[in-house]
Amino acid sequence: MATAVVSPTQTKKKAWIRRRQDSTAWVRRAVQWGFLALNIWIGVEFWLFVRYYETGGAGIWVDRPAGIEGWLPIASLMNLKLWWATGKVPGVHPAGMFLLLAFVAISLLLRKAFCGWLCPIGTISEYLWRLGRKLFRRNFALPKWADLPLRSLKYILMGLFLYAVGGMSAAAIAFFLEGPYGLIADVKMLNFFRYLSFGGALVIAALVLLSVFVQNFWCRYLCPYGALLGMFSWMSPVRIRRVESKCIDCAKCAHACPSQLAVDKLIQIQSPECLGCYECVVSCPAEGALDMTVVGRRPVPAWAMAAALGVIFFGAVSYARLTGSWYTNVPSDTYFQLVPRANEFGHP
Ligand code: SF4
Ligand code: SF4
Repeated sequence: MATAVVSPTQTKKKAWIRRRQDSTAWVRRAVQWGFLALNIWIGVEFWLFVRYYETGGAGIWVDRPAGIEGWLPIASLMNLKLWWATGKVPGVHPAGMFLLLAFVAISLLLRKAFCGWLCPIGTISEYLWRLGRKLFRRNFALPKWADLPLRSLKYILMGLFLYAVGGMSAAAIAFFLEGPYGLIADVKMLNFFRYLSFGGALVIAALVLLSVFVQNFWCRYLCPYGALLGMFSWMSPVRIRRVESKCIDCAKCAHACPSQLAVDKLIQIQSPECLGCYECVVSCPAEGALDMTVVGRRPVPAWAMAAALGVIFFGAVSYARLTGSWYTNVPSDTYFQLVPRANEFGHP
């Protein structure tokens, strides 16, 4: 039986493709881990901040990290409406609003790269399904009849939030955000996780377990933030492009896609489910067959994606800091009064 002879040029080319794939994967991993570490750092700082006020000033004093407001998407949405209606940058939780604007800008330009590169929940979800794949040698996909209606859930949740915030007047938003509940909405969120109820723990355990079996279960079916960003990402000029003449129809890209998109069948991926994660590109063995591109033309290497994410993210943060709009200005006395009694304040 004749054996195929592999020329040194082919071997070199294969090694080059492999190196490019590895570096692409590593660039995204580094950004994901970096952003996760940043969020853990912010979480620890915020916990110390809360403990200081809970203990009447006996704990370690740290500045309140404004980045914690990235975890207050509804307050951020409210502030966006307030800014729009009054023309003034809101004084309570403005950082969350600037972060939301940065993530919308990222989605408009770079697909849902916030979800695929930056979101800590997205990163944890990804490592959970990777763990599932290691344990069971595969992940599981829901049947189409269940997948499609379930996917609409996140859009329904998004619609409900937009409807609720859209229906509030500027005065009602200001009254809410400047009231006790609004001022310490971040502390309430921390307390939700610190003093997790049995029901809450059960829901989180179920989501973790489902995420081990089904790729990105939370993101795919339930995350309203991702749904909102997906709507903007639909307009993004950056998208995956497959070159039919170079494609060898191996379907590895479709198999690698965590959003279960038919990358091997389509020419361009414009779906709002695309995370801009490059997993399909990394898995493609045919040189030049699959790339992240700007309007289907110029390839966008992973380092360029990472750089663009950095420019938009740090650009928004720097703008807010330089214009003095980044920090919530609440006097220390107010925190001393409100933080220890956080659990007394219900939703108005
Ligand atoms: S199409 Fe490619 S970039 Fe988009 S989600 Fe799937 S694997 Fe990631
Ligand atoms: S992995 Fe590459 S070669 Fe294989 S089907 Fe996808 S685009 Fe074509």
